[in-house]
Amino acid sequence: MTSLAKDIAPSTGGQPMVKAEAVHKSFGLSHVLKGIDLEVNPREVFCLVGPSGSGKSTFLRCINHLEKINAGRLYVDGRLVGYRQQGDKLYELKEKEVSAQRRDIGMVFQRFNLFPHMTALENVMEAPIQVKRETKAVARERAQQLLDRVGLGDRIGHYPAQLSGGQQQRVAIARALAMQPKLMLFDEPTSALDPELVGEVLDVMRDLAADGMTMIVVTHEMSFAREVGDSLVFMDDGVVVESGHPREVLMNPQHERTKSFLSKVL
Ligand code: ADP
Ligand code: MG
Repeated sequence: MTSLAKDIAPSTGGQPMVKAEAVHKSFGLSHVLKGIDLEVNPREVFCLVGPSGSGKSTFLRCINHLEKINAGRLYVDGRLVGYRQQGDKLYELKEKEVSAQRRDIGMVFQRFNLFPHMTALENVMEAPIQVKRETKAVARERAQQLLDRVGLGDRIGHYPAQLSGGQQQRVAIARALAMQPKLMLFDEPTSALDPELVGEVLDVMRDLAADGMTMIVVTHEMSFAREVGDSLVFMDDGVVVESGHPREVLMNPQHERTKSFLSKVL
């Protein structure tokens, strides 16, 4: 069987895949991220949990250039996100350099956001052709392999509206992987699914983890975090409250806020 992540771009080596140092983000007067420090190592499945409104999505969006941080440092694979440092000065990257950085990062949202007028196959082929200028033949070959691998080899000609939520989310994962990212961000990928469809999406994510993909997963699926996660961070109100091995944090939370949150989701 082909691997989901066989073409993961090699990490530049030696450093964390993601490193946040005192990252702050505000929207107007609303201070959302209040000094986030964390490190995600290559090949790690890093679970980010916390109550709604704690800043999880904002943090992922900062990693993926959808938001700009106001203070601190954020690195992906050793490179500052959105900036170039010269001496002690920071310069904003040009649009072209930003898209080059974004290309290495795949993101999967709660809502699948597939192109409705394109088949599953066309959805997966689109970015490699448009962004990477791959030939149709090469893009089609990989798209077919990826759709096979997420269990949709017999659905490649279907349009999103003809697929279940779980199938659409698997297409969305295949579409992100088609760009051969070195980092995958998942923002509550199963939260919008009917309960009976959650498992098939988590299974694909489990395969991807086994293939060695570096993943940051925002989720309320604590059994996934416990079984697949390498580390877990509990975030509340824009700060990291505690972190550790998922089993450790889930079985033996140290802080009241973590205990109270876990008592609601476990
Ligand atoms: P989570 O994903 O943990 O539920 P979010 O990162 O979505 O939390 O949101 C954290 C806080 O930031 C919330 O109070 C939310 O209203 C606010 N927020 C997020 N995005 C914006 C935005 N674009 N403009 C203003 N406020 C925002
Ligand atoms: Mg969110």
